[in-house]
This record gives sequence, C-alpha cells and structure tokens, in this order.
Amino acid sequence: MKEQKKDVLIFPGDHIAFIEEFEGGKNTYILDGSVRSTSLGNKILDLKRRVVKIEKKNSPLIPKLGDVVTGYIDMLFGSMLSMRILFINDVYSMSGFSAIASTRISFDGQGHSRRGERGDRRIKYIFRVGDVIRGRVFSLLNSNVHITIDEKELGVIYSLCYSCGGNTIRINNGIKCVECGIYEDKKLAIDYGQDSLSVMYDRKNNLI
Ligand SMILES: [Zn+2]
Repeated sequence: MKEQKKDVLIFPGDHIAFIEEFEGGKNTYILDGSVRSTSLGNKILDLKRRVVKIEKKNSPLIPKLGDVVTGYIDMLFGSMLSMRILFINDVYSMSGFSAIASTRISFDGQGHSRRGERGDRRIKYIFRVGDVIRGRVFSLLNSNVHITIDEKELGVIYSLCYSCGGNTIRINNGIKCVECGIYEDKKLAIDYGQDSLSVMYDRKNNLI
C-alpha cells in the first residue's frame, strides 16, 4: 500500500487538500472545495487512490468545542487576550495550548447583559497578564483555540493586585486590594476569589 504519512500535527478545521487533488477519507469533511480535518491528528495520503485521511492522535487532553478551560493570561493584544491553558474541564493539562479571547464584554460581573442599557455606561474592564481566567471553547478555526469569557460563570477567577501584589476581594464589578486598597473594574466570574483558585489547584495536586 502506497501511503505517505506526514508528521505535522493537524487540527480540526485545518485545510489538508483540495478536492481536485484528493478525495476526503476518514475524519475529514469538505468545505468550499477544500478537504478539512474533523480531528486532531496526522495527515495520511493514499497516493494511489488519491484519498487523504486523518489518523487521530490519541490525546484526551486537547481542548474540544464546549470545553471549559482555565489558565492565566500570558499576552494582551488589541482587544484580544491570550491564555495559557492549565486545566481542561478541571483536569490539569500539560499540553501547553494557548487560547485566545475577545476582551469585548457584554455581560457584567453579576451576569446581567449590558446590551441596550439606557445611556450605555460601558465599564472598561481591565485585563492584565497573570490574571487567572476561565473560558469556554467556541471555535477551533485555523488551529487556534477560541474561547469566550462573556458569560456569568466565565471571566477572571483570581488576580493579585497589580500595584503591590497583594490579595484581592470582589467588590461589585471589580476587585479591591486588601493591602493597598486599589480598585479595578474586571470581568469577574461569578465565583471570583481565592477559594476558586485553591479548589482548582487542589484538584491538580490530587492528580500527582
Ligand atoms: Zn495592592
């Protein structure tokens, strides 16, 4: 059998061939003349039959659509943030994946929609590198893990004071430093606080 395996990791949604070149085999779908992968794995070309398929990679700790992922912000750019994933559905993950999210938020920290509010007093939420956040995967387009943090239970779950590094507590739609008293507006998850962070890390330690 004349098969050619490429050791490049393919992500769901990735273009793997044009329909003029290859027919879509296992774990593929067709979109706009392009054969794409439904799974994470390696591309296998059957050159004789002109079929391309994806051999699934056996890795349970890859973010999937709908997964809840938790990690810390490692980069901010424009109205986007990048999160380094540490937990996928509360299971510690060392996969090293990052996720990106929009920092444009329509829900406040109490889960109320801010759309259509009279006067639209938009709070400018502040995100900082190091903030621990929780998001939900809604797209895996172009090999990126896209998450939203714009839901009641999503957003920042803990953050230290940016000024003095002190612990913080939730006040309305933001956090206040218990050491120096500085306040910042943040898109908080409903369970914001040190407890949520501890629960998360306890789970990790139990696994080791
Ligand atoms: Zn402080």
